[in-house]
Amino acid sequence: MQKVRGILIGRMQPVHNGHMQVINKILEEVDEIIIGIGSAQLSHELKDPFTAGERIVMMNQALAEENVDPSRYYIIPMQDINFNAIWASHVKMLTPPFSIVYSGNPLVKQLFSEEGYEVRQPPLYDRLHLSGTEVRRRILEDDNWQELVPKATVDVLNEIKGIERIKNLSIKEISDI
Ligand code: NAD
Repeated sequence: MQKVRGILIGRMQPVHNGHMQVINKILEEVDEIIIGIGSAQLSHELKDPFTAGERIVMMNQALAEENVDPSRYYIIPMQDINFNAIWASHVKMLTPPFSIVYSGNPLVKQLFSEEGYEVRQPPLYDRLHLSGTEVRRRILEDDNWQELVPKATVDVLNEIKGIERIKNLSIKEISDI
């Protein structure tokens, strides 16, 4: 029987508990999920500190921690392109065939619905706290960011010295003194 596949694309800077909850919800509705690691070309910027490879490891280990069957997901890095009008085709080229797009992002929803895909808005879980922006803010302010992310994200950030990286990125260079 043909598998029903859904796709969720996010920057995952870093992977947090909101991503994991929404992925589990989507897996109740489809046979397989494609997890797109968006803006894959970006790293070492305050808003996008982690490389696509680092984000893949976070996601892979977080799914393993939750005992998600590895045959039910694909994790695929995808770079941004300059042309919104052909971005959905770009994503299609990079991924296994899918029929349902899950997103809360208005542009993503618009671009895929124009291409004829079914677009579903997944529920948002505690968006006030479960966002990459909040995790990065707490890291900078030495607040409890660990409670917002899976253990896998804590482990990867420790392994790659991710806290130090974010703090260094926040220090503006002083020049021409
Ligand atoms: P994001 O990380 O903000 O969110 C990704 C998804 O995760 C959301 O749609 C949402 O469904 C889910 N999510 C996040 N927090 C959640 C929570 N607390 N509870 C439940 N669900 C939660 O990512 P985004 O900004 O939507 O990512 C879109 C990606 O697509 C970006 O990388 C963007 O650059 C890319 N994009 C590229 C082009 C182009 O290249 N032309 C065009 C459009 C989008």
